[in-house]
Amino acid sequence: MKIKIIAYIIAAAVMAVLPLFVAEIRNRAEHIIDYTSGDIVIPVSVPDSFIAESSDIVMPGIIKVYDAARGETFEIDTEEYITGVVAAEMPSAFNPEALKAQAVAARSYLLYKLTNNPGGHADGASVCTDYKCCKAYLSAEEAAARWTEQKADEVFDIIRAATEPVRGLIITYDDAVACALFHASSSGKTESSVNVWGGELPYLHSVYTPESEEPFTTVFGADELTDKLRGAGYDVRPAGDIAITCNDTGRADYITVGGVSVPAGELRSILGLRSTLFTVERQDGDYIFTCYGYGHGVGMSQVGAAAMADSGYTYDEILLHYYKGTALRAVKYESTEN
Ligand SMILES: [Zn+2]
Repeated sequence: MKIKIIAYIIAAAVMAVLPLFVAEIRNRAEHIIDYTSGDIVIPVSVPDSFIAESSDIVMPGIIKVYDAARGETFEIDTEEYITGVVAAEMPSAFNPEALKAQAVAARSYLLYKLTNNPGGHADGASVCTDYKCCKAYLSAEEAAARWTEQKADEVFDIIRAATEPVRGLIITYDDAVACALFHASSSGKTESSVNVWGGELPYLHSVYTPESEEPFTTVFGADELTDKLRGAGYDVRPAGDIAITCNDTGRADYITVGGVSVPAGELRSILGLRSTLFTVERQDGDYIFTCYGYGHGVGMSQVGAAAMADSGYTYDEILLHYYKGTALRAVKYESTEN
């Protein structure tokens, strides 16, 4: 009799909870069907492994940052640093889910750098504020100088409020912190890490990204192009015909001009192009480069993340879309008390 009563209680409890799970599954499915950009649908289903769990991964509570503009090093609470990175990397007007995804990606990238590539900065600093070296960073003082103190306070308040729920969260791959690279925009497709740096990382493969920003055009005269390539050490003949060879994701792999081949990534930095997703045409002796997207194209696209968030995707779905096969974990902050 007692066993029967217990069985009834268990059955009743299961029946009460089951609809919640069904509702949850249905919500996810609707997300998938609702989101369309053109004809493309992004299927994202968040597996159990992606639900945030605590971990033994340790993060320093305070880090040393080298201020590249002032030539000084300062110490800062790690979460405050992350807030400053989000403020520099993403407009606070972006959807809060995109800001959350940005904070988790920035924190993961920081810990990856601290773990795998520490040092290399003055005064033993862990990172610097030069976006070309580490990540962009905006302090409250710089923000106040850029806008007004009131506007800076508003921006930081918005970012703190949006990212508080994901405080301490990182993404991992095989139980180790993931190198969560990100960039401004990608125009349809992100790039695989192997095509940029030769490093194969399974969670940094090319994926669809729902965005189509206006392309950006830069024009170079033939002499200008020749001079720039020569300045970079290329023994180039006066620039004539130009040809692009694309890689497997559709970006430029290398270009051939004036008898030399130049890797597209290198050409991008020589000419200051926005991305390696470009076309080039010759017109009246000039070379017209039309670039799509902005940045190296690897990992999460910030504009794509905002578009996904505006379509109802949550930060974890956004992260899982751009970083396939990863998991979400909470770090343990090292005590900051001596
Ligand atoms: Zn740096």
